[in-house]
Amino acid sequence: MSKVLKSVQEWKSALTELQFEVTRKKGTERAFTGEYWDTKTAGVYACICCGKELFDSKVKYDSGTGWPSFYEPLEDDSIATQEDRSLFTRRTEVLCANCDAHLGHVFPDGPAPTGQRYCLNSASLDLVPRQDEEE
Ligand code: FE
Repeated sequence: MSKVLKSVQEWKSALTELQFEVTRKKGTERAFTGEYWDTKTAGVYACICCGKELFDSKVKYDSGTGWPSFYEPLEDDSIATQEDRSLFTRRTEVLCANCDAHLGHVFPDGPAPTGQRYCLNSASLDLVPRQDEEE
């Protein structure tokens, strides 16, 4: 699989300012302000940058943080993780494996069965709803 590579200018013109800040500059949207933190619509959350399907609404849960939170990715290799030592703490950054978009961070305080909390930015995601399903 070849990665999606675009120049800064190409990403800038393809994304909103907030989407660009979050995905390409590792920014964070303010809690409780994003499009999806409280969304319960059934569907698949894809990468806003490249369209790769990343998380299913079935594993989305209310973490109380104000960011969309999931307990496992659609496929283990759809995301990448790396250590993030910014802000004087050690966190694990979550990225789209397909285009290196910054998605958010993963913390080991999620629910069963994985115990993981993928705490993501709405601005990194594009929800593709399933028509025939309510959750
Ligand atoms: Fe991507």
